[in-house]
Amino acid sequence: MKKKLAIIGAGISGLTLANFLKKYSKHEFILYEKEESLSLDQGYGIQLSANSIKILNQINFKKIDNTKIYHPRGVDFYDIKNKKICNLDINQFNTNESKYTTLQRTTLFEFLKDEIYTQHLRFGKKIKEVSEIKEKILIKFEDNTNDLVDFVIGADGIFSSTRSFFEKKKNKPKFRKAVAVRGILKSKLDLDINEKNINLIMGKNCHLTIYPINKNNDLNLVCIIRSKKYNPDNIKSLIEQKVLNQNINLEKLFQGELKTWPLYSTASIVPSTNNKVFYIGDAFSGFLPTLAQGAGQSIESAYELFNLLKEEKSNAQNIYFKERYKRANIVKKRSNLNFFVFHFSSSIMQNLRNFFMKFLVKRKSFINSYLGKVYKN
Ligand SMILES: Cc1cc2nc3c(=O)[nH]c(=O)nc-3n(C[C@H](O)[C@H](O)[C@H](O)COP(=O)(O)OP(=O)(O)OC[C@H]3O[C@@H](n4cnc5c(N)ncnc54)[C@H](O)[C@@H]3O)c2cc1C
Repeated sequence: MKKKLAIIGAGISGLTLANFLKKYSKHEFILYEKEESLSLDQGYGIQLSANSIKILNQINFKKIDNTKIYHPRGVDFYDIKNKKICNLDINQFNTNESKYTTLQRTTLFEFLKDEIYTQHLRFGKKIKEVSEIKEKILIKFEDNTNDLVDFVIGADGIFSSTRSFFEKKKNKPKFRKAVAVRGILKSKLDLDINEKNINLIMGKNCHLTIYPINKNNDLNLVCIIRSKKYNPDNIKSLIEQKVLNQNINLEKLFQGELKTWPLYSTASIVPSTNNKVFYIGDAFSGFLPTLAQGAGQSIESAYELFNLLKEEKSNAQNIYFKERYKRANIVKKRSNLNFFVFHFSSSIMQNLRNFFMKFLVKRKSFINSYLGKVYKN
């Protein structure tokens, strides 16, 4: 039976769900976004492993301009002095159709909004009040409009306000005492890195990731720095004290325009208490970026929910949570472990880690269980 849905939030998860609903179902839906437009100015990079590309291909990701994406074949690991430790082949998880892909976030948004923009997106919409009327949910917005729907989908990010309207128990995201610094590089400068791969430079209490985002040699830089506080006015000195003090040669990476974020992750993964309300993407569970799976999991969760809604499963809520919890938990554990291992402060631990990494990246069984489980799904 045709249902009516309200999707709250036009990020990667909300837009992915909207695309699937539009292409493969008869359900009616509107995407409600609190901002006045889509944030297309944030040109930073996103990594999408084969698991998410396989899903996006179903909504015609192949039509995307090939010059605006990149397929790195491996991850090169370095110490903070830019000395290479080892290389991980990520090509092994690719198929001809679904390859590990890097691109600018804006490129992904341009693609996802294409079919949705005019008919299904409403901007400047913030929920004021929700109530249940018979089998439906009435949403009232702050601009005094409202919508009566069968399902509400919270796709409004890690600080989901949809959750605060429907859930009594708070699940406040946790500040992970770390800051992310982002920039775009026009070349690899004179660093000893491979501009065709993902480069991961690990230091004491920090790491840097540099990877191509298109065929124009633009590289995305992300630097994660442990810091007890987030002070956006103090980033230059944080970089000096925590990164450049370990290798002054990295200074040139931070000359261009930089953007910064405090890093949060979801404290625990909790189910929806209302059968008509679902959470996807970061609103379901927000991860540390150290496995680069946030966008990928947003896409996966949207796809899982879409399939359940399409099939009109009566116990959709239970199935969705059970399956998503399993998957999110794997990603959460791996992201947390990477966060810990990438940032060892003692040189003994760093040497030990480097020794084991050289060994483990070649062990097919280990790599298959650590990454294959996430990338292949
Ligand atoms: C530093 C950093 C690096 C990352 N790198 C990667 C990477 O390389 N690969 C990867 O896969 N992931 C990465 N991620 C994670 C990824 O960006 C997120 O996991 C993903 O964007 C989450 O998508 P989402 O749609 O769930 O939420 P969001 O992108 O947060 O979108 C939520 C949307 O909802 C809107 N909204 C919020 N509140 C309301 C409201 N009350 N009403 C209506 N609308 C609302 C917001 O304006 C926004 O448009 C990274 C994250 C960080 C912080």
